[in-house]
Amino acid sequence: MIKGGFGATFWLAARLFLHPKSPAAVYKNPVPFILHVYARLANLWISARGGDQVCLICGRRGAFGYVAAISDQTLIRNSLCFGCGSNSRTRTLLFYLKSRLPNGQLKILDIGPLKSTRLFFRDLDCTYETLDRYGEATYHDDVTDMSSIPDETYDIIFCVQVLQHISDDLGAMSEIRRILKPDGVAYVVVHQFPSSDKTRRSPQASYLGYGFEWLYGEDFRVRLESAGFFADMISTDKFISEQDLKRHGLMAQVLYASRPKATAKS
Ligand SMILES: [Zn+2]
Repeated sequence: MIKGGFGATFWLAARLFLHPKSPAAVYKNPVPFILHVYARLANLWISARGGDQVCLICGRRGAFGYVAAISDQTLIRNSLCFGCGSNSRTRTLLFYLKSRLPNGQLKILDIGPLKSTRLFFRDLDCTYETLDRYGEATYHDDVTDMSSIPDETYDIIFCVQVLQHISDDLGAMSEIRRILKPDGVAYVVVHQFPSSDKTRRSPQASYLGYGFEWLYGEDFRVRLESAGFFADMISTDKFISEQDLKRHGLMAQVLYASRPKATAKS
């Protein structure tokens, strides 16, 4: 994330600020620009500093850095791993899964894979496949039309921080359900706005990977269920100790373990 140093940092920050479609331009304020520059510069200092935190994915020891959450215009502390690029939200889900993946030869699909999730699954005894429109991936389909993949293929589908960027998110959920085995589980993580009851369209479109199509509210579970899932809400308070939270740079959040409704099969 800090690769490229000052020049790249300022160039990206300028694009985020100056482009007419950027979140900063849409909101007509300089806060996203300031957050981005602040996070990048602070991370140069934090990455060089020592610390006693440990990344559970890549094993890096040190301190975790800031992540600038452009859409809700906040800085998340204690989040970015300088070794694998994971953030606290992704690490929390992987921390949960680490001791709970069932035995046996699982078939896993990672939608919108990250360097950190690739690392995590690489050493597991499983068939790990990826889907992304760009870059290195097993499939290059759009998540709303994964027609290269037959019905009921996967035991586990992993979809982290993807759906809020998809205009037809219900179409994507429906496709995920189609390719999941009847006893499979989809772990879906989205950016949720806990102070908001209802999901809304974002006033901005995604730009350079920043900004959302959807601002998800407390009703995200209803949305998953309308696409044919039973969605269990897992509160991280139940499985993360205060010590693990600090040591591994995790965060309190709600995870959704979604299983296909038997009657919803098309
Ligand atoms: Zn790491």
